Amino acid sequence: MWTFRRKRTRRRTRRSAGRQPTKHYLAHKETARAFVHERLALHNAEYSFSYKRVFIKNQKSCWGSCSEKGNLNFNYKLLFLPPHIADYVIIHELCHLAELNHSPKFWSLVAQACPEYKACRKVLKTTTMRGVSYAYGSTTARTTARTA
Ligand SMILES: [Zn+2]
Repeated sequence: MWTFRRKRTRRRTRRSAGRQPTKHYLAHKETARAFVHERLALHNAEYSFSYKRVFIKNQKSCWGSCSEKGNLNFNYKLLFLPPHIADYVIIHELCHLAELNHSPKFWSLVAQACPEYKACRKVLKTTTMRGVSYAYGSTTARTTARTA
C-alpha cells in the first residue's frame, strides 16, 4: 500500500515537472487575481452583469470559464498573455453571464467590448498554454506593461 502510494506521488511529481511548477502558480496567483478583478470591473462597466465569485486556477487547457451559478474561473496564465488577448478572455467569460452558449447573440455581446474578438480567438488557438509564461518574459516586465 505504502509502495503504491509512493509510486503514485512520484509519477505525479514527474508529470507536473513537465508543465508549470506549482511554485510558479503560487507566485503569480494573487497578481493574477488583482489583474482579473481590475479588468473585470473595467469591462463590466460596459455590461453591468452580476457575477459571484472569481476563482484563479491553474488548469491545463482552459483560459476561463463561467458556471451556471455565476462564478467566473480564470487561468492565472492570463497574466502572461498579451494584454488585449487576456482582455478578450475576460470579456468572453463576462458575456457568458448573460448567454451561457456560443450563439450569435453571445458573440454580438462580446463584440460590444471587443470588436477584434475574431483575431483574438485565432491568437488563442495558436498559443500553447504550456509555454506561455516563458514565451512572454518575466512577470515584472508584464506588470509594467499592463500598468503603463
Ligand atoms: Zn465560451
